[in-house]
Amino acid sequence: MDRPLIGEPLPLDLLNTLWVNDGRTVDALADPAGVAAWLDERDLRSPCSAEQLGPVLREGREAIRQALLAPDQPAAHDALNALLARGHLRDRLGADGPESVVQVDEERWRIAWLAAHDLVALLRHRPQRIRRCAEENCILWFLDASRNGTRRWCTMDACGNRSKVRRHRARHARTEVEPPSEG
Ligand SMILES: [Zn+2]
Repeated sequence: MDRPLIGEPLPLDLLNTLWVNDGRTVDALADPAGVAAWLDERDLRSPCSAEQLGPVLREGREAIRQALLAPDQPAAHDALNALLARGHLRDRLGADGPESVVQVDEERWRIAWLAAHDLVALLRHRPQRIRRCAEENCILWFLDASRNGTRRWCTMDACGNRSKVRRHRARHARTEVEPPSEG
């Protein structure tokens, strides 16, 4: 099944491998084929197999989700911090000048570590622009790159319209139960 939202920065895109369709949660990383397809889509390469990467990516995804859902609760950051502790950036001077090399204690953690590292960078520079879709049943996340910072939904086609229809119905229902204003 096609993912409803693609193209967000790596940590948010990792979150968006999980979505709700007709009340049912769909996981694009549930099996090795899905993991391979996601890596391909993101142009991420790894010497590890999709079988090895699947559990690690799903663990990283939950660590990122917990940290974002409870930004003011340090306990919710433990999993993310444990993931960050699995690697670091090492500066070095290469043939083409300064470069930063990612070092991880185990190769299979590299992509999940990169996602966590990118999340920290987003939180440092654009925390207000990291948003969860405003539609109540939607679990997708995005970085609001709109000029005014007014993006509310993952996509206008799906969640934006659904929210508008619901608001319209709620207004309509309220009007019907209001007592007549005269008589
Ligand atoms: Zn949505």
